[in-house]
Amino acid sequence: MTLLICVNATEWLQDEELRDILQPYLPDVEIAVGHPESPRDDITMIACTKFSRGLIENTPNVQLIQKLGAGVETMIANPDLPDHVRITRLSSAAQSREIAEYFLAYVMRFQRNMGVHDDNQRKAAWVQTPPKLNKNMTVGVLGLGTIGRIAAELFVDFGFDVLGWSRSPKKIDGVDCRSGMEALPALLSASDYVCAILPQTPETTNLFDASLLAHMKPGAVLINAGRGTLIRDEDLIAALDQGTLGGAVLDVFHDEPLPSDNPLWHHPKIIVTPHISGWTIDDCWGDIAENYRRLTAGEPLLHEVDRKTGY
Ligand code: NDP
Repeated sequence: MTLLICVNATEWLQDEELRDILQPYLPDVEIAVGHPESPRDDITMIACTKFSRGLIENTPNVQLIQKLGAGVETMIANPDLPDHVRITRLSSAAQSREIAEYFLAYVMRFQRNMGVHDDNQRKAAWVQTPPKLNKNMTVGVLGLGTIGRIAAELFVDFGFDVLGWSRSPKKIDGVDCRSGMEALPALLSASDYVCAILPQTPETTNLFDASLLAHMKPGAVLINAGRGTLIRDEDLIAALDQGTLGGAVLDVFHDEPLPSDNPLWHHPKIIVTPHISGWTIDDCWGDIAENYRRLTAGEPLLHEVDRKTGY
């Protein structure tokens, strides 16, 4: 049995670099690198960011694809992936904390009027705009998985009223947790900030269209770090132009890198960041090796994806 590393993201990490990271965790295991030129019966697990039909054809006994990242929507949607192949993803405590801090940082930017002060400095204008008090503001966190839960708890620590939303019911200290599609409009109407960290699934794709955006509290700010497909961009721009929404902070987009002619770049009420809300995943390398060990031993895998629900 062999683990194959085929990162498929040349600008990020080389196959050999990841092999050198993983080999000490699996000293007795053969770790192959690169796209096999011909079929290899020995490969049972592939660690990659994406795969091609050729890669699957040349690994006829592959049982597990370990995604080198958190989102698995493109893998699940790939028709070349046989039904029996399992998928695991990375779930990093460090990255989760980074994304929670990203949400907090941008919420505090609005709480403390930092954009207003930036503009006033450029005009040399001494305008004392008072900060908003956290205890008077409500943050809605959409997605209460690994990342959303940490974000919700962070906002509780900072004194906000916190509403949370997920598919199945949850209990988190200090958070008013709600679940199911029918609970979403009321949550949006009550939230001054909406922080979305949802996976891309058929249910979440284009969820934020004009009809849902219309439920948001006037002047509210939408912050999305999950997947860009959550939002219908033209409807978001219309809601901002009409003044229904106060602002949007977007880290993820339908097309990445965001094309330079995309209007999101230049909208005065939109802040764009280039998919950097979560970056650090160094704490996950051991999980890849552990999944190889568990696969071989027939034990439950870490962070296995449910191919039916899509996350
Ligand atoms: P998890 O799988 O741990 O959590 C997903 C959460 O979304 C769960 O609470 C789940 O509900 C909820 N959810 C899914 N579908 C629905 C739905 N239809 N209605 C309501 N709630 C729903 O994922 P993570 O927290 O680790 O990550 C979330 C997503 O963030 C990833 O899928 C990825 O796309 C994105 N991401 C972005 C990064 C970036 O750099 N910007 C980095 C890492 C991740 P339930 O608990 O009931 O299952």
